[in-house]
Formats: sequence, C-alpha cells, structure tokens
Amino acid sequence: MRMVKALLLGSVMMVALFITFLVVVHKMRPDLAEFSAFFSGAKLDPVNADKSPEESVKAIYFGTSTILITDGVTSIMTDGFFSRPSAAQLLIGKLEPDRAIIRKALVAAGITKVAAVIPIHSHHDHALDSPEIAQQTGAMLLGSASSVQIGRGWGVPESQLQIAENSQPYTFGKFKVTLIPGQHTPVPAVMQWLTGIGEAIERPMQFPARLADFKEGGSFSVLIEHPLGNVLVHGSGGFVERALDKVSADVVFLGVAGASRLPPSYLEEYYQQTVTAVGATRVIPVHWDDFTLPVADNKLTPMPQLVDDFASSLGFVLTMAGKTNARVTLMQYQDEMKLYPPGG
Ligand SMILES: [Zn+2]
Repeated sequence: MRMVKALLLGSVMMVALFITFLVVVHKMRPDLAEFSAFFSGAKLDPVNADKSPEESVKAIYFGTSTILITDGVTSIMTDGFFSRPSAAQLLIGKLEPDRAIIRKALVAAGITKVAAVIPIHSHHDHALDSPEIAQQTGAMLLGSASSVQIGRGWGVPESQLQIAENSQPYTFGKFKVTLIPGQHTPVPAVMQWLTGIGEAIERPMQFPARLADFKEGGSFSVLIEHPLGNVLVHGSGGFVERALDKVSADVVFLGVAGASRLPPSYLEEYYQQTVTAVGATRVIPVHWDDFTLPVADNKLTPMPQLVDDFASSLGFVLTMAGKTNARVTLMQYQDEMKLYPPGG
C-alpha cells in the first residue's frame, strides 16, 4: 500500500513539474523594449485610416500577415485575421470568425471599405476571418480554391468570391494585385500532416470548424502594384525557386514565423529568393507575434522563446539586410507606415 502511495505521489509530482515547465516556457518571451529602435512607432490616425491627404500609399499592420495597403481611395487587405482564438480553443474547441472582435478592430482603425481581402493560404491564422472581412467591408475574397471554400461556408455571396488564377493580375482602383504561387514555411513531416500542408479544402467549410479543417490549400506571395510603387507581401516562410525573379518591389513584408528553427543556409536562400530577387530596399518582418494571444493594449506579443526565437529571426533579417543595404522596420498592432512616395 505504501508503495502504491509513493508511486502515485511521484506521478502527481511529475505531472505538476511538467505543467510548471510548460507554463514557464510559455511565459518566457523576449522583451520588445529591447528592440524598440526597430519599431516604426507611428500609430494610425483612425479617422483617416483609409484616406490619405495626398497621393500616397500606406500600410497599416494588424499582426500575423494582416496588412492593409491603401492609397486613400482603394484598400487591399491581406489575410484579415483578428479573432486570434486561444491555444486551448485551437486544440479542443471549434473555430469561427468572431464578428464582434472584427467589427471592433475595423471601427477602431476607421476601416469601412476594402476592395479585396486576400488570404495568403488557408490555415486559420490567415484565412479564418477573411470571409467576415468580406461581409463587413464588401471586399472581394480573392484567394485559392480552398480559401474560397471557407468564404462559401461562411455565406459570402458568390459575387464576392474569386479563385485567383496563378500570376494573373486583378485590378482594384489604381492597384493591380497578383497572387504568385509560393511554398509554406517548412515544418516537420508530422506537422505537415497535422496541418494539411499540400492539401486542399474540398467542400464549403462547415462552421464552427476544427483547426484541422483549415488545410493549407496552396500558398501565395501577393504582389500589390500601384503607380506610386510596388509592395510584396510574402507572409509564409517558404519560397519557390526563381518565382519572383521578374517581380520588382521596393517594399517587402517578409514572413518570419518559424525562422529561428530553420538552418542559416535555408534562411539565406529564403531572403535571396524573396527580398533580393525583387530588389527591395525596405523590409518589414511579419508573423512574429503569438497568434494564440489576443491583442492587449494595442500590442502584439512575440512567441515564447523556445517555440520561435524572435531575436534570432530578427537577427537573420538584419544580417541579410545589412548585405543588401535594405532598411528593416518592425510594426506593432495598428502601426501605420507611409510606403510611397518614400520618405517623409
Ligand atoms: Zn500556415
């Protein structure tokens, strides 16, 4: 009996230790204050979020790869992810766009009209809210056949759903938007299987949906061309060799999720095939935030260090940018940046 008791007590202590370890690991996050020199620090002007006083193109950042690009008349949004379901919800719950959170975020940013919302692939941290953004702003949901199935399942009218032809430009106001096939960030084989990388969503998504229902459905680089200048949103850390060789963009939003876990040789190639390939002089690393946490105080929180090391991901971008004389800037939630004309 004493033996059983001791074993039981031992097991309980082991489990408690393990949980403590998980909690500690989860809490170990870099202090963003150490990187303040890289943050643009310019908050948006909510009243004029989608208007510009002069002819210009600006970007507003909302975390992950959710970026609004606007010339004051027409606005394009990539992903449009705001609901940010918690880790527990992802693992054991069901997911659907949170209408109230999305409405609040759009109102706070003064965004009323979006011409196109473009999920860069169909995982939940990119495509979950795209259909609700389409509903609330009248945007066209432009993306893979899988992303369109998510929109269809959420009840977006067919007139607002458009499967993007690879490398085919779509015109919205003065913007020309092209989805160029890319690759998802490399992940271990078991994760590939678990997250449906290389798989498609074959039927209209049934909401609420399980995390595993959000298959990758193909990844894209989004080229946003404007008479004032071009922007490339490369939200996922994979690449297709030479796919961007004919593309020119001075500004690249570069996905760095998982970068700290990838070998330096891969990262170098990744940077060359994206930023260097398009000749960019300005790089804005994105997808560094913990997308299972809500935005608190208009602030995004970086990933726990052991999951994805922010300092090392940023370090890689800085090293590469140093070689090509590119400027690296980070954006916090609702930060705004004038992209074109450059300067000022
Ligand atoms: Zn993904």
